[in-house]
Amino acid sequence: MELTYYQKNKDTLNFKRREYRKTDEGKKRKKIDKWIERGLIATKEEMEFIYLTWKSQYHCSVCGVILTRDGQSGTTCCMDHDHKTGEYRQILCKACNCKDSWIKKKKMLESII
Ligand SMILES: [Zn+2]
Repeated sequence: MELTYYQKNKDTLNFKRREYRKTDEGKKRKKIDKWIERGLIATKEEMEFIYLTWKSQYHCSVCGVILTRDGQSGTTCCMDHDHKTGEYRQILCKACNCKDSWIKKKKMLESII
C-alpha cells in the first residue's frame, strides 16, 4: 500500500504544527479560526483589527472589569459578535458575553446615566 505524504511525514508535520502554534502567528491563526467556527464574518483586515483589539483591550466594554486571558474566569477576554449576522460587536468579559446579558446591563447603565 502506498503511503500518503501525510503518513510518510506525520511526525515531522505534527512537530511543525505544534511548534507553529507556539508562535504569535500560530496563536493568532488558532484564535481567528475559532471565531470563524463560531460564526464571525469579517474580512482579513477586519479580522486583523479584531484580533489586535482582543489582544490589547484592557477593560470590558460593558462593565469595565479588568480583562484576563487565562480562559477560565468570568473576566476572561471575549470577542462578542452578532449571532444572526456574524458581525463583530465588541470586546467583553466572559460574564458579560454570556447569554447576551450585556445588552440588559448596558440599558440599565444608560438609564442610570
Ligand atoms: Zn464585563
